[in-house]
Amino acid sequence: MAATPEKPTPATPRRKAGRHRGEGQWARGHFTPLNGNEQFKKDDDGLNVRTRIETIYSKAGFDSIDPNDLRGRMRWWGLYTQRKPGIDGGKTAVLEPEELDDEYFMLRVRIDGGRLTTRQLRVVGEISEEFARGTADVTDRQNIQYHWIRIEDVPEIWRRLEEVGLSTTEACGDTPRVIIGSPVAGIAEDEIIDGTPAIEEIHRRIIGNKEFSNLPRKFKSAVSGSPLLDVAHEINDVAFVGVEHPEHGPGFDLWVGGGLSTNPKIGVRLGAWVPLDEVPDVFTGVISIFRDHGYRRLRNRARLKFLVADWGAEEFRRVLEEDYLGRKLVDGPAPAQPVQQWRDHVGVHRQKDGRFYVGFAPRVGRVDGATLTKIAEVAEAHGSGRVRTTVEQKMIVLDVEEARVPSLVAALEALDLRVNPSPFRRGTMACTGIEFCKLAIVETKARGSSLIDELERRMPEFDEPITININGCPNACARIQVADIGLKGQLVLDEEGRQVEGYQVHLGGALGLEAGFGRKVRGLKVSSAELPDYIERVLTRYRAEREDGERFAT
Ligand code: SF4
Repeated sequence: MAATPEKPTPATPRRKAGRHRGEGQWARGHFTPLNGNEQFKKDDDGLNVRTRIETIYSKAGFDSIDPNDLRGRMRWWGLYTQRKPGIDGGKTAVLEPEELDDEYFMLRVRIDGGRLTTRQLRVVGEISEEFARGTADVTDRQNIQYHWIRIEDVPEIWRRLEEVGLSTTEACGDTPRVIIGSPVAGIAEDEIIDGTPAIEEIHRRIIGNKEFSNLPRKFKSAVSGSPLLDVAHEINDVAFVGVEHPEHGPGFDLWVGGGLSTNPKIGVRLGAWVPLDEVPDVFTGVISIFRDHGYRRLRNRARLKFLVADWGAEEFRRVLEEDYLGRKLVDGPAPAQPVQQWRDHVGVHRQKDGRFYVGFAPRVGRVDGATLTKIAEVAEAHGSGRVRTTVEQKMIVLDVEEARVPSLVAALEALDLRVNPSPFRRGTMACTGIEFCKLAIVETKARGSSLIDELERRMPEFDEPITININGCPNACARIQVADIGLKGQLVLDEEGRQVEGYQVHLGGALGLEAGFGRKVRGLKVSSAELPDYIERVLTRYRAEREDGERFAT
């Protein structure tokens, strides 16, 4: 039953064994599990839990679930236990995991490339209504997440998803997560190259493949040929970004080692140009390096970014070329700075075939099953049946004839899905937060939604790109470090010295070629109640004091 391969790829690095001896790297012969996660992965491959869910747990109920499956392997199929209602944020760090566990699950549906048909979207909406109390959030990695899922219903949910070509396979866990893609791949007028064939081939080769189902930690990836840099490539473990090579034409610039959370790092360029048909091979090489050389001793040092930081770009590229690809990569150019700041494709845009795509903004990614079903209906009535999700928790309807655009815009706006949103609606993202997340300290989604309303009321004239990202804890699910205004949930003291929900403020982060992390403003913490006042003050001062053309991040 051991999931650890008997003989892993014997890629032997030339660098001397040094302080990283004993980091649990398989390529150095360290197969003895050094922590509980490595142990349960060695005991049984996470993918194998599906059989137990189908044959035992869904029939015998929540209490029959093995603890190592419950808080470990079930993630390989997109399942996390959700937070028991009513436990306040002050108890998050002090309670044992089983005290925080509800008997309901979050279930994540992976949507590689953010590509959905209206038929798939209807099924996603129906499942939400029937099995998830109507919940359905669009995440900042193009997925859709349900809550309130009972273990008894999981096999039927899988059956319905898989019938329309969707799945929850490796949506969570130490696995190759969803492959992010440009949501306007293949249709955008300004596209450099369409990465869709590469995403499909990577999915076919890698997802659900037990050669890659025991990684040191999660592995995030992105492929986009859009000049808008629309997939947050800088914070993925591997990313392929569209560029035009002066001799070889369109292809992809290769980035590795990005990631947020603790010790955030912007990915590094390897200076290599990869043609479309070689992207799956290079992806396989990079994920294999991670599997074989990644650090497995400490969970908080296990992401690929730590290996990349220790090796450097040159050594990483050498190992990739010599030990995994068996050939040199072609040197290539860096992507250009995008001409516009918004990268979410919201609004009405002409496609290269003369039709239009229409991007719209729900509130902080929160929709529901009934709304998803209605989106499917209006998309079918106005387009060709294709819908996309974005990494900004937004959605897009494709293939709309010009004459049908006004009617589609009106139908979406009637559902409170704004095609012409305020900068606050457009630029505010929020993670799951205390409503369902066991790690959360504060509320996020409802806070983000009311903040949007308040800022729209107070600053109706504000019309510049601004990003406000809200996390419920020190993790980085809503990318606070790369927002103009990043809000990290924690308990703070109010004016009377009482502990209340609030946020540590980070200012001036950005993605794009000026990517960088926001400054943690020393001592600057705001309570939830003070948040609208604080943000109004910051934005008012920014407008009053900025130089010509100066962006918030600069
Ligand atoms: Fe949960 Fe924290 Fe991630 Fe928000 S940032 S979803 S609270 S782990």
